[in-house]
Amino acid sequence: MGLSRSEQMSRIRGQDTSPERLLRSALWRAGMRFRLQSRTPYGRPDVVFSKSRVAIFIDGCFWHGCPEHYVRPRTRDEFWSSKLLGNVERDRRQTLLLEAEGWRVLRFWEHQVFESLPELVEQVRTALASGAWSPSASWRVVQVDLLPGEGDMEQRWMEELRGAMPRHAVVARRSTKKWKRVRSLPSL
Ligand SMILES: [Zn+2]
Repeated sequence: MGLSRSEQMSRIRGQDTSPERLLRSALWRAGMRFRLQSRTPYGRPDVVFSKSRVAIFIDGCFWHGCPEHYVRPRTRDEFWSSKLLGNVERDRRQTLLLEAEGWRVLRFWEHQVFESLPELVEQVRTALASGAWSPSASWRVVQVDLLPGEGDMEQRWMEELRGAMPRHAVVARRSTKKWKRVRSLPSL
């Protein structure tokens, strides 16, 4: 069964505002040329510059534990915790394996694409240039523990993706701040 024309159009419009699409067109406008649908030995990044071995991943704020926007779901705690840990582990493995083979790996948060696109384009330009390069720290929420008897307080455990710095905990009121672009939280 085919899609109607208006369904097709709304799909296309949907794609137009995806963070991947926005980043790709900004890079293109800045004169950077890359391959679409490119693979690396360790997965399929959102943008790949194969010749200069630069791989870019855009990580969704909820699924990958954005320090600013991860919100612990109120139900099915164990399920979501292991999902989050699994995603961060996969991000870490992918990143370290690629970097071990000489790739420069950039991981951007979905929200950064909407909030600071020009800055991201500059980071890509720097990574593409020859010469010294070192990745910037990428902190992730990996676990959230409720603090019983503390109202809505929770302890959020943070890890740096490349393990460059030790895990630490932040105690904070449960975040209810939902970033406006985070719509992909499935119904619970
Ligand atoms: Zn975020």
